[in-house]
Amino acid sequence: MSDAPQSLRRPPFDAPHHGGNGHPSSNGHHGGNGHHGSNGHYRSSGTLDRAVAQQGAGHPAESAGTLRSETTVRDHAHLLHPADPEFDEIGEVELTDLVSDLITGLGEDVTREGLIKTPHRVERSLRFLTSGYQASVEEVLNGALFEAEGSEMVVVKGIEFYSLCEHHMLPFFGTAHIAYIPGDTILGLSKFARVVDVFARRMQVQERMTSQIADALEQALKPAGVAVVTEASHLCMMMRGVEKQGSTTRTSAMRGVFKSDARTRQEFLDALR
Ligand code: ZN
Repeated sequence: MSDAPQSLRRPPFDAPHHGGNGHPSSNGHHGGNGHHGSNGHYRSSGTLDRAVAQQGAGHPAESAGTLRSETTVRDHAHLLHPADPEFDEIGEVELTDLVSDLITGLGEDVTREGLIKTPHRVERSLRFLTSGYQASVEEVLNGALFEAEGSEMVVVKGIEFYSLCEHHMLPFFGTAHIAYIPGDTILGLSKFARVVDVFARRMQVQERMTSQIADALEQALKPAGVAVVTEASHLCMMMRGVEKQGSTTRTSAMRGVFKSDARTRQEFLDALR
C-alpha cells in the first residue's frame, strides 16, 4: 500500500474538539489526550517531514504526534481562509462559523431557536460524511486478509453507501456490488462494506469512487480480477429537476480477468440481475 494516495494517510482531524465555542485560542486543543495515538501508520514519511518542517517557528511544548496532526489541519485552514489571521491558530477550521455565514447568506436568522445549534450539527455531520479522508484501507483490511483456498468468483451484492457529490455537496446514494477472483488472498466478507465507506465518505463523483474501490481491492488482494458496479441516485439531479426522479446512475470498474475475459465479466453481471 506504499503507493496509496496521500489522502488515505492523513491523520484525523481533531473532530471532538470542534465544539461550539467560537474560536478557541490555546485551550485544550493541544493536550495529550490520546486520540492521535493509534494512527501513526496513516502518516507517510512525506507527511511527517512536511509537518515538522512547517512547524518551525512555533509550539515547542507540543508533542511531535500532536503537531503532525494539527499542522495538517492548519494546511486546510489556509486553503479556506488564506487571509484570515484567526486561522493561524493550529488545529482549527471553523466550520461552525462558515455554516453560520452560509445560513445567514441564505436569508435565515441563525439566532432563532431552531437554528441556533444548526451550525454545530452541520459541522459534526459533515465531518462524519467526509470521514473517509481520515480512514485508511490499510487499517480496514488489517487482520481480515486470509489465505485463499480456491479461485472461484466471490460476489458481494447490495452494499449500501452514501456519498456526497463534489459538485453540489448533495448526497448520492445507492448500492455497490463487488466481485473478485482470488489470487493468494481473500478478504473477510464484512470488510467490503468498510472499504466502500472509506471512499464513499468523501466528496466524490460516482465514477471515481467506483474506480477507487476497485483499485484499492486490486492492490490489497492481488486477485486474478476484481469488478465493482455501483448504482446510485443523485439528489443534485433529483431535487433540482435536472433529471427524472427515480433514475439511477450505474458505473463500473473492471480489473484483471473481469476486463480481459467477457465470459467472466458476464457471469458477474448476470449475478447482479
Ligand atoms: Zn452534483
